[in-house]
Amino acid sequence: MSGQEKRETKFETKLIHFGGEVDEATGASSVPIYQASTFHHHDIFNPPQHDYSRSGNPTRQALEDYIAVLEGGVQGFAFASGMAAISTTLMLLSAGDHIIVTEDVYGGTYRLLSNILTRMNIETTFVDMTQPELVKAALKANTKAVYMETPSNPTLKITDIAEISAWARDKGLLSIVDNTFMTPYYQRPIELGTDIVLHSATKFLGGHSDVLAGLAVARTDELARQLKYVQNGLGTVLGAQDSWLLMRGMKTLGARMAHSEISARKLADWLSRRGDIDAVFYPGLANHPGREVQEKQSTGYGAVVSFDVGSGERAKRLLNLVKLPLVAVSLGAVESILSYPPMMSHASMPPEVRAERGITDGLLRFSVGLEDIDDLLADLDEALRNS
Ligand SMILES: *Cc1c(COP(=O)(O)O)cnc(C)c1O
Repeated sequence: MSGQEKRETKFETKLIHFGGEVDEATGASSVPIYQASTFHHHDIFNPPQHDYSRSGNPTRQALEDYIAVLEGGVQGFAFASGMAAISTTLMLLSAGDHIIVTEDVYGGTYRLLSNILTRMNIETTFVDMTQPELVKAALKANTKAVYMETPSNPTLKITDIAEISAWARDKGLLSIVDNTFMTPYYQRPIELGTDIVLHSATKFLGGHSDVLAGLAVARTDELARQLKYVQNGLGTVLGAQDSWLLMRGMKTLGARMAHSEISARKLADWLSRRGDIDAVFYPGLANHPGREVQEKQSTGYGAVVSFDVGSGERAKRLLNLVKLPLVAVSLGAVESILSYPPMMSHASMPPEVRAERGITDGLLRFSVGLEDIDDLLADLDEALRNS
């Protein structure tokens, strides 16, 4: 070969120069918000590229191209929420199909699978995916897909994405990963062999607690065609304004994740050294059961730390004492967010199922934002001492 090979740019450069960042018509430094539902046919024999915004909108298209570049897939899809991305993707299944799912999956995904898709005769087996043998043992004649969430929520259990995806492909199953906690900055499941990557972009990708959105990326053209069909058929798309806002947030993903992760490591170490905490869950801790797999498939540990303060009473007292973090559902924002899974994200899970899955009454989840870590620790220290 003569000449130079085209050098591939690094991830942080792709975050800024993803290909659609400049408006082709005017050179504007950001993609315009095409606030239009429909598009004029100047020539009926030569229709416009987009004809109706449910089927395609130029602003949404830029976002969809953006996430496809970041995840390394062939095509991206933007949805009105993470659950819209998840539910639409699961519409690739049919009545009578069976799916194997991470045991401590996001509460909303659990509800969708156990209370809504069951009505359509789609059957789920929840499995502790830290043990690949258990995933393999759950295979049935009608199994069509494997759905992973790693690190899982809120106890940050790690699934070996490459091993499960390879097994799924071997068995002819669709493999799906909810990559919300890691984002493509740290983990790119398609490069590890997964078919479809999903996001609640409401979290780290958006990053500012001001937009609700979901994303999906397909590994192959055939899967992209199928996803496009269900996205358009169900109409679960993201609007133009929110598509723009999400891209605005995504440009700083690298800087935000890197900063928050340094702080999250400090928080996890600090909590581990205390005598008044029953357990700390963070994939970067030396004693975290999934640490080795995490280091194989990801370039970081993320910005979410869960810890058990011993009892539900103490957890609730602490939530009323902390001054800096937002006490709220959600995660992945510029501001730290302290959540109480038993009463928030996992409230829809029956108490006995929560207990089975290690979501104890004293469990709190800290999503570390961009505040100075010394201030966050001082605030948490005071709240812990007084709770
Ligand atoms: C929040 C979340 C979802 C759901 O996303 P929404 O944007 O709230 O609909 C799905 N998966 C994970 C891991 C989440 O944290």
